[in-house]
Amino acid sequence: MSPPKFRVAICGGGVGGLVLALALARYPDISVTIYEAAKNFTEIGAGIGLWPRALKVLEKLGLRDDIFNLVGCTDSTDPAHVFHFRKSDQPNGVSFYDLTTPGGLLRLHRASVQRLLLSRLPPSCATHTSKRLLSYTQRPSSVLLKFTDGSTASCDVLVGADGLRSAVRVGLVHELRARGVVSSEHLAEARWSGEVAYRALIPMENVRKAAPGHRCITTPTEFLGKDNYILTYPIEHGSLLNFVAFQRQPTREGTKFDGAWMAVAGGHADDWTRPYDGWDAEVQQLFDCAPNPMRWAIHVAPPLPTWVSGRVTLVGDAAHAMAPHEGSGAGQAIEDAYLLGTLLGHPHTTRATLPAALAAYDRVRRPFAEGVQRRSRENGLLFTFARHDIDRARVDAGVLRDLGERVRANWAWAWETTLDGDVERAVGMLERS
Ligand SMILES: Cc1cc2nc3c(=O)[nH]c(=O)nc-3n(C[C@H](O)[C@H](O)[C@H](O)COP(=O)(O)OP(=O)(O)OC[C@H]3O[C@@H](n4cnc5c(N)ncnc54)[C@H](O)[C@@H]3O)c2cc1C
Repeated sequence: MSPPKFRVAICGGGVGGLVLALALARYPDISVTIYEAAKNFTEIGAGIGLWPRALKVLEKLGLRDDIFNLVGCTDSTDPAHVFHFRKSDQPNGVSFYDLTTPGGLLRLHRASVQRLLLSRLPPSCATHTSKRLLSYTQRPSSVLLKFTDGSTASCDVLVGADGLRSAVRVGLVHELRARGVVSSEHLAEARWSGEVAYRALIPMENVRKAAPGHRCITTPTEFLGKDNYILTYPIEHGSLLNFVAFQRQPTREGTKFDGAWMAVAGGHADDWTRPYDGWDAEVQQLFDCAPNPMRWAIHVAPPLPTWVSGRVTLVGDAAHAMAPHEGSGAGQAIEDAYLLGTLLGHPHTTRATLPAALAAYDRVRRPFAEGVQRRSRENGLLFTFARHDIDRARVDAGVLRDLGERVRANWAWAWETTLDGDVERAVGMLERS
């Protein structure tokens, strides 16, 4: 067997790392190894929404039918209902907008998606669990990886798909600082958005028993209010209700979160339902059947002037962790992975021309993903009536109608655009370089 064109090490086996491995599996002349810190490949969390833009990428990797099997529906680009919006920070909530989009939003269980991606990895892709990257060192023609268990490995390209607290990002920012590209190592760290999300999966049976005919049994719904909102949608063929309660402290954005970034909410000590006192009866009914949720402090990655340093780059949350108000962090990780995989697999990309492939990836993906990051924050402000141009004392029918349209416009990229043009542009850059 001839030696590989080059060796790619993927640090992190979340959605970004696994999709990158699948995108690279199309090129048998590239050797791929995934190093995952956890004992097993697992997904913590609950539901995940995928928009048509991300779905079309998975389709290119042959996963379309499997994804639709998981959702339990057939492919369609027909207009589909996505979310029902209610103003709910009052005892009698008011319904005010229905978001309907071409193709709608696919709603899945995270663990099912992870299992699917893992099951599609070819035997040629080496995987190592319990391998937490500590640091890396770039050499003239390779990268040396050091793990916390004392072991080492080497590769020709290192991709940091290691999420919100990325070790690869820390190394990359350190290198950029040494070269004077950035002025602060703090850019390596994700910052608290001032928001906390309480997430739970509620057995739908419990909702049916406690509140027969509750809207959420059939209709994905967002219950909005000042500073706080709740998002729900059914998953797993309607057997579970994905439930996320967001709480925002605007003055705390950018400050240090005091506590674990992810933890089980602690009963009365963490009285997570209190901010919703006096809210819509429909919301109170959900609290009655919600199990103790997990608490997530929402952190976002500060934008970097580049995601590339030598033979090292980033994908997914390591590059652009964002607030979840557009349900698009994983979708953007999928796009990063596909474009990067396509560029690395291109016949023009060799050990010698790797920098050109990484540069094209960075130039095309970074501005787009950072745009989605800004839009996600913007949706969060709209959902909590916190935009500076919303008069919070007078959120009336006119304001709400306008708000629905603004949410739609801010989100439209997810169903109105595709990655195809960006792939073409990036490949063109590589071929011309
Ligand atoms: C409340 C909430 C709701 C969301 N809803 C949606 C949604 O509906 N749709 C959507 O598209 N996105 C959503 N997101 C965002 C989405 O979850 C993330 O953007 C996505 O999981 C990022 O994938 P990733 O592969 O980059 O990182 P991760 O999924 O975090 O994976 C990183 C992997 O790297 C491993 N790792 C970490 N450090 C190391 C190390 N040093 N060495 C080796 N391995 C390491 C970890 O164990 C993990 O397996 C949501 C996020 C939140 C918080």
